[in-house]
Amino acid sequence: MRPFAYVKPADVAEAVRVAAEPGARFLGGGTNLVDLMREGIERPDTVVDVTGLPFDTVDELPGGGLRVGALVRNSALAADRRVRTRYPMVSQALLSGASAQLRNMATVGGNLLQRTRCPYFYDHASACNKRSPGAGCDALDGFNRSTAILGVSESCVAAHPSDLCVALAALDATVEVRGREGTRRVPMADFHRLPGDTPDVETALATGELVTAVELPPAPVAANSRYRKVRDRASYAFALVSVAAALEVRDGTVTEVRLALGGVAPKPWRATRAEGLLLGGPADETAFRRAAEAELAEAATREGNAFKPRLAAATITATLRELSKGVTAG
Ligand code: SF4
Repeated sequence: MRPFAYVKPADVAEAVRVAAEPGARFLGGGTNLVDLMREGIERPDTVVDVTGLPFDTVDELPGGGLRVGALVRNSALAADRRVRTRYPMVSQALLSGASAQLRNMATVGGNLLQRTRCPYFYDHASACNKRSPGAGCDALDGFNRSTAILGVSESCVAAHPSDLCVALAALDATVEVRGREGTRRVPMADFHRLPGDTPDVETALATGELVTAVELPPAPVAANSRYRKVRDRASYAFALVSVAAALEVRDGTVTEVRLALGGVAPKPWRATRAEGLLLGGPADETAFRRAAEAELAEAATREGNAFKPRLAAATITATLRELSKGVTAG
């Protein structure tokens, strides 16, 4: 590992001031950054350790939402009684990711900023536009079982790795960030970027901006929500396909629905087309499947991931079917 400077700022103003310098990286739980530094993919000049900053609480917001500090550990958020009852898909998404040890270290802010698990990104012998802009992309014709099928470009087909972010997208969460110019709020839908021809630029954050909190808006529909994850083994694996869904049904009609997908796109994928088709329609198997297939209609598959549209449609349909019966495992 190459040498770097280590700074533990006393307050957020110092943190964003130090991080505005070129080559600085924030350190939270370190569960992704340290791995990337060991692999020589991240090569910071300065590591800014923000774990001493006061962003480690979950607080009530006026109107019924929750403000989740960026340094809240994934395990703590998953166990929070308010999250388990008001936003069960958030708790389920967190518990489906990584291992218990990693969840005890990993932070909410770090979860939003974790890098892709595309194997070519980690292999210096491979071409990767995300790691080395302009180098090419060996995943296009390589091992691409886990790559994305929606929102991809010829520059990058990597899937976003987070489970939590899928649930946050379905909930219309807001990300609070702090930079040298002050605090601003970024809708979750705008926080992560599609790759286009600059896959190395992954978020809407400006240089030196620090994620300080995530706000969950009040969403009564989310009390009947579910996160379903399909993967190659039962634990400690990233999603081939995942679904975060919330559903309200009255007299057999869908009166509110939230739907987002993981494992299929370079960012958490809000399934707005499916939501539009479902809202106001019958809450039955035929409608669920038709909406799911419409969402996947423009999927761009490759040899290794041609199974994903069918798998995603089936997972969406099964999740909505379960929610239509009022099942909400917290
Ligand atoms: Fe790199 Fe993206 Fe291609 Fe993977 S899919 S090799 S991350 S450019």
